[in-house]
Amino acid sequence: MALQRCLIANRGEIAVRVIRACQRLGIETVAAVSEADRDSMAARIADRAVCIGPARATDSYLNIPALVTTALGTGCDAVHPGYGFLSENTAFAAACAENGIAFVGPSAENIRQMGNKLVARDIAQEVGVPLAPGSPRIAEFSTARGIAEEIGMPVLFKAAAGGGGRGIRIVHRHEDLRSAFDTASAEAQAAFGDNALFLERYIGNARHVEVQVLADSHGTVIHLGERDCSLQRRYQKILEEAPAFGLTDALRDGMREAAVKLARHIGYESAGTVEFIVDADRGEFFFLEMNTRVQVEHPVTEMVTGVDIVAEQLRVAAGEPLSVRQEDVTTTGHAVECRINAEAPARGFAPSPGRITEWAPPEGEGIRLDSHAAQGYVVPPFYDSLVAKLIVHGRDRDDAIARMTEALARFRVSGIETTIPFHRYVLEQPDFAAERINTNWLEGVAEAFVAAETV
Ligand code: ADP
Ligand code: ADP
Ligand code: MG
Repeated sequence: MALQRCLIANRGEIAVRVIRACQRLGIETVAAVSEADRDSMAARIADRAVCIGPARATDSYLNIPALVTTALGTGCDAVHPGYGFLSENTAFAAACAENGIAFVGPSAENIRQMGNKLVARDIAQEVGVPLAPGSPRIAEFSTARGIAEEIGMPVLFKAAAGGGGRGIRIVHRHEDLRSAFDTASAEAQAAFGDNALFLERYIGNARHVEVQVLADSHGTVIHLGERDCSLQRRYQKILEEAPAFGLTDALRDGMREAAVKLARHIGYESAGTVEFIVDADRGEFFFLEMNTRVQVEHPVTEMVTGVDIVAEQLRVAAGEPLSVRQEDVTTTGHAVECRINAEAPARGFAPSPGRITEWAPPEGEGIRLDSHAAQGYVVPPFYDSLVAKLIVHGRDRDDAIARMTEALARFRVSGIETTIPFHRYVLEQPDFAAERINTNWLEGVAEAFVAAETV
């Protein structure tokens, strides 16, 4: 049965994105907002807004009882968790299910399985998906040295419960293992309430390539091709594109097949992303993790395939079949997304919250802006610094880069600092246009940018 009313359990651009998808499908919306977001765009465009608690996320966007009570009290039959916050929280998905509310995402069991990188690695191995050489949980530091020797330096400590690039530490020398273990485990404990770590071989010349999958409750699992998200700072994505360039057919087909096989094996339902690391020197791919939610960068896939990923999630949550079949999915042109953050790139990417006094985004053919910002909007200091995602679609990669360059040049923002100047600098780099990039590349570019700005 079609959904009637959906609680939006998130904020910012993704809350706006989900509300718009609901509106197109004729689903009423209730925005759950914190005190800091009472006047937000999501609060204004939803049919109703309900304040669920103070600004601090633990009191509002992470408050499961408040969200479930609000959903029930406002007669919602569905909850969309967006990304971040409770989107990959087993207890929240289970609480929704127990109260007869459709959680717009996979089952609590699938979230549990894929939410822990060690469990996910075991399942990937079961279905024959290649894994980077790694270890089981390192319970005692004393065992790390021997394991690191076996794997070979450099290695990464990773938090089993990790996400958003937190709890990851690279180690180049054996004598640094101890301090990396201690900091990664403290960070994992603080961020996820779970200090479990494991080791993985660090791939130096690597690309991050991920496959978007969609699955329904009727046994259909399809993929929408791949995205390249290699441009990262501190293991966080900054710029993404679709399709992923320069892959051999064997690599591309291998990743697609692996992603669909994994989703099918666990009985996955909804949208999900299977992330891989591609060893560019050896032409091999390895499973990284599966994100059991809508991804920040989903619009680049939407631009090249024409499939509305959030609408498909809502359909699946209502028990309906996917509206697209694998044979209908085709890719047209190339799309690039820039994550525009309220940060001062010249000051080491320091947060820059505050009032936006001028907001004049570019418009035109092939340009999409996913944002909750507007002139007069005050970017609160409490949350993620993402204020907009600028997405462009072009004939091919060169055309998309040219359009993005032009769109960024026309994007005027005052009152806060943003990462727009940094994105413009990135796009000017000949290596970017020439596809000479890997997951390390952007760190060097960021350092050069900061150095050039501070002379
Ligand atoms: P994506 O691949 O969608 O870009 P990210 O890993 O960058 O995913 O995370 C998207 C958002 O979700 C970011 O705001 C990030 O801080 C947040 N996030 C990701 N994983 C977690 C987690 N396990 N716990 C809390 N927040 C998370
Ligand atoms: P998170 O859950 O924080 O997103 P991931 O396992 O997806 O953690 O890794 C985040 C990023 O760290 C990847 O996109 C990649 O750039 C880098 N990374 C992860 N594993 C490896 C590896 N084995 N070798 C090189 N880089 C890696
Ligand atoms: Mg990841």
